[in-house]
Amino acid sequence: MSRTLFRHDRIWTGDAGVPWTTALLVEDGRVVAVGGDAVEAAGAGTDTVDLPGALVMPGLHDAHIHTEWLARDLSSVDLREARSLEETLELVRAHAETLPEGEVLHSGRWNHNRWAVPEQPDRHALDTVSGDRVAALSSVDGHTIWANSLALQRAGITRDTPDPVGGEIVRDASGEPTGILRESAQELLAVIPHEESPLRPWLERCQDWLLSVGLTSITDIDGEDARTAYAELHADGALRLRVTKCTRDPDLELAIAEGRRSGQGDDVFRVGPVKFFSDGALGSHTAHMTEPFIGHEGCGIAAMPYELLLERTLTAARAGLDVVTHAIGDEANRLVLSTFEAVRAEGLERLLRIEHAQHVLPVDIPRFRALDVVASMQPSHCTADLELADEIIGPRRLASYAWRSFLDAGVRVAFGSDAPVEDPNPFYGLHAAVTRQRADGQPLGGWRPEERITLTEAVHAFTVAAHESVGRTDVGRLMPGQLADLVAVDRDLWALEESSPADIRDTVVLQTRVGGELVHERR
Ligand SMILES: [Zn+2]
Repeated sequence: MSRTLFRHDRIWTGDAGVPWTTALLVEDGRVVAVGGDAVEAAGAGTDTVDLPGALVMPGLHDAHIHTEWLARDLSSVDLREARSLEETLELVRAHAETLPEGEVLHSGRWNHNRWAVPEQPDRHALDTVSGDRVAALSSVDGHTIWANSLALQRAGITRDTPDPVGGEIVRDASGEPTGILRESAQELLAVIPHEESPLRPWLERCQDWLLSVGLTSITDIDGEDARTAYAELHADGALRLRVTKCTRDPDLELAIAEGRRSGQGDDVFRVGPVKFFSDGALGSHTAHMTEPFIGHEGCGIAAMPYELLLERTLTAARAGLDVVTHAIGDEANRLVLSTFEAVRAEGLERLLRIEHAQHVLPVDIPRFRALDVVASMQPSHCTADLELADEIIGPRRLASYAWRSFLDAGVRVAFGSDAPVEDPNPFYGLHAAVTRQRADGQPLGGWRPEERITLTEAVHAFTVAAHESVGRTDVGRLMPGQLADLVAVDRDLWALEESSPADIRDTVVLQTRVGGELVHERR
């Protein structure tokens, strides 16, 4: 049995009854006593660790993160900061020169909404810098691919190729594909054979990164390659993050056939929910809305017909799998709630979440509560998208990034980052949740400031509520019986909340411990 007494002047426990303490006794990875009880129970001869920094708090849980995508990004070019097509192309050219011959140009996360001329690019521009290699660059939200001519040719996409269900091959005035593939049309490129670099070493680097920013648990949204890599890491004792692993829609039948059930696994690696898509994203104008976007035709895209979404949701829930469904637009949220109504009507007590729940009809908010549906939200999406939301959705017709409204209606809110769409640092998310301001302090007073929440509420959404949203109640608070996952940070967030909330964003994690074990230390 291992037994350690952890001490610090300011330990925030997350336990509403005893929010602050100064000592934690940890036995075999779990807190067994706090405060004076801990010191007394420890007795003489117990190992004692004085934790560094200005504050100790529970480790954070990112409830929605794509770690395979994040890991592969570590091996690709980052186009997010480019401010023009020309700058973007120059970055692609420079990156392509570093790649071995024939290796595919992928990812990139370009964001034309931030370019001087915010128009979606075409294949001809990409052809000028990609050389004789396939290029298929993802947009920042992952809902659009910008392909070069060679990629279209290898995938057999021509003017005669019909749009797939739930997707669009964008065409120019003469009917030729421009290279922009939206939503399910991205999958047309899957026929191109390419060597993927092995995932495991990149996932290990990714793990170190997440531990270093204070994350001790994640709910991973990516696919079976990530599942296999995580299972290998766990078998080798190299998995230090607690990972709840989602199953993607295309793998549902495989999961059921294997007997996969949500909650299977151990303290470190567990079977999570199935992830479905009901619509696209705001930046690509593919969110499914009840009214058209301002300045654009159409109400976005339904990722699959409602009947199919309902059937697949029920198939998963009946098989013992929890369900999380992506919904950005108000129409998408309305429809997903209706699929969940059908789950509840069958008396199925599965955990249900809506991923993003970004722009919701105010009348639908009470339905989340009535159906016990978790709003799984990403505060950094609000601060990244606020200008776009103003521009294409307009004044306050909808409850947008409406954390306060959800909490006030008694809805459970879990937070995450949706990395690599946004940075995985949870302190960026806490800052956005509390201020609704970007890093530069804009807009003054916060965007729709009535939707701000308190630091305690935001931390709850990144800890207890995130764990509970995947069925875990034995982690998230530093109190007896809970897993000893904690971080020591350089500043006291609760002191900053009133005086200088902007500084929450710059929090530095000095130590991260999972089950009491040191897994990250800042040197
Ligand atoms: Zn996502």
